[in-house]
Amino acid sequence: MKHKCRNCQSKNTVTLDRGILAPFFLKRVYGITLNTVRESLTSRIHNPPISTKKNLASFLLKFLNSFNYGRKLLDYRGSVGVQIRVCKDCFFVGPETKYEYEVLSGLYVDYRSANYDNDRINFEPFYAQIKDYVGKSGEEITSRLSHIDTLISQYVDVVSIENVIDWGGWGRKIYTFSSTNEKCVCFRCIK
Ligand SMILES: [Zn+2]
Repeated sequence: MKHKCRNCQSKNTVTLDRGILAPFFLKRVYGITLNTVRESLTSRIHNPPISTKKNLASFLLKFLNSFNYGRKLLDYRGSVGVQIRVCKDCFFVGPETKYEYEVLSGLYVDYRSANYDNDRINFEPFYAQIKDYVGKSGEEITSRLSHIDTLISQYVDVVSIENVIDWGGWGRKIYTFSSTNEKCVCFRCIK
C-alpha cells in the first residue's frame, strides 16, 4: 500500500531501507545506548565467557590502539537502520514510521542545557567545539539565521507559504518567514 507524503499528501512515494537512527537519537528517544567498539572489547575483557575470547579482545584492543585509524575504529559506535519514505513529487524525505511528539520529547527536553551538551558530546564528539557558540553567541545566531534566510530566499517564494516547520529558527528568531501565518518548531506550533 502506498503511503502519503507528509508534506504534499501525494501517494507517489517510495519506501527505502536507507535510513539510519543516530546513536544520540537512540539514546535520547528510546534510552538505548550503542556501545563503541572500544566499550564492547573492554566489556569482553572484564566479563569473559571463555579465556580465548578475553585474549582475542585484549589483542584487538591493543592492536587498534596502536595506530590512528585503529583508534578511530575503536570510537565507532554503529547505527541502526530504518525505513524512510521519499516523495517523488516534492522530494520530501522522512521516516516511514511516524513518531508522536511524546516519543520525540526526550530529544529536546533540556535542549542546549549543560546536561544536553554533555549527552550530545558523548555521542557526537564534534559538538564540543561548537557547544559554547550554538544558540549562545549573538554572532553565531545572527550569522546562521542570515545564511538560512539567504539560502531560502533563493529558492522559495516566502510570501506564499503559510506553514513552516523547524528550519533552524530556534528561539523564535524567525526572520524570513515573519509574515507567515503559522510557524512550528519541532512538531509544536508556537503561534
Ligand atoms: Zn510530497
